[in-house]
Amino acid sequence: MTEIIPKSMQAWRKHRGKMEPIWETIPVPSCPPNGALIKLLSSGVCRSDHNLLTNEVQPHWFKDSFTLGHEGCGRIIELGSDIPASPYAGKFAIGDVVALLAVPGCGSQDVNECPECARDLPQLCERAHHSGIGEDGFYAPYAAISVRGLVKVPTGVTPSQAAVATDAVTTAYHAIHRRGQVKKGEVVFLFGLGGLGFNALQILRAIGARVLVSDVKQENLDDAMEIGVDKADVVPTRKDVRDWVRENGWEGKIDVIADFVGMKQTFSDAQHIVRRAGRMLCVGTLSHDNTVHMKVGIRKRLSIIFSYGGQVRDLEEALGLIAEGVLNPMVEDGKIKDFPSVLKDLEGGKIKGRISLLHD
Ligand SMILES: [Zn+2]
Ligand SMILES: [Zn+2]
Repeated sequence: MTEIIPKSMQAWRKHRGKMEPIWETIPVPSCPPNGALIKLLSSGVCRSDHNLLTNEVQPHWFKDSFTLGHEGCGRIIELGSDIPASPYAGKFAIGDVVALLAVPGCGSQDVNECPECARDLPQLCERAHHSGIGEDGFYAPYAAISVRGLVKVPTGVTPSQAAVATDAVTTAYHAIHRRGQVKKGEVVFLFGLGGLGFNALQILRAIGARVLVSDVKQENLDDAMEIGVDKADVVPTRKDVRDWVRENGWEGKIDVIADFVGMKQTFSDAQHIVRRAGRMLCVGTLSHDNTVHMKVGIRKRLSIIFSYGGQVRDLEEALGLIAEGVLNPMVEDGKIKDFPSVLKDLEGGKIKGRISLLHD
């Protein structure tokens, strides 16, 4: 079955100097020799889309205009001419439904060519294409992507689940497994049960960690209890976290802080409530600046660990957990036409979990 590919398509684009997304007609991209042409099924909306639209202090390689959307799932409709002679030969076929990792890196193993990829940090690579982040992404019917960014979607995972898995789940997964190295039986205090934090909660529980949770919204705490968090492990809203830890006998027993909020208060509380030689895992960035309490940090010999993005193996493992039913990312379907209003609702805190936009 050969698909008739149109010459042009409508896409949601960012133009430098314009803070609102523009719905415009652009050419359908051609298939890259080392990649695939994808027909999009679902594209996840992320809070960072707002930042991409409104914050123009961005890396030098950002294009003057580009198609937004960095969380995608689609079907392969064309494979590049270099694939059969590459290590990816036979891994993918036309018709496969794949999740799309926006920043898979260039993959160079030469430190002079790409210090990031050569040190296993492809999510920080500046050489390769960044889908929807300064370069063309997934709020369009078709997208071109390197084969390095493709992960086959297992059966039982919907396109919208797969789309949000590429960012909201993969970022949480990378933070907890690779950066935090959280182990079974460890006590983890989790700040924030939003889009990423709720996925983090499920990933932590799948490891077998004991998770204590804190959020400003009661409904998020209710959701946590619904998936099995004991009421005794939930900090009541408005309760002072340090008092709660002391009163509930957790002082000196919290191995890891997973901060998916990143505000002054959470970052400060984290340093006080974590055990000696504990780890603070920083993922959320609601405050631009936070304070390190030097005496606390040094005397307790804390590790402050930052995490950013994720990698193909994280995405593969995250999709596996979703297929097994261990992880259930909160996502609802929307329509691609509604991107601007969905983004406003997300910014306004009106959306629980995530919305992924279907392409018709
Ligand atoms: Zn994102
Ligand atoms: Zn690279």
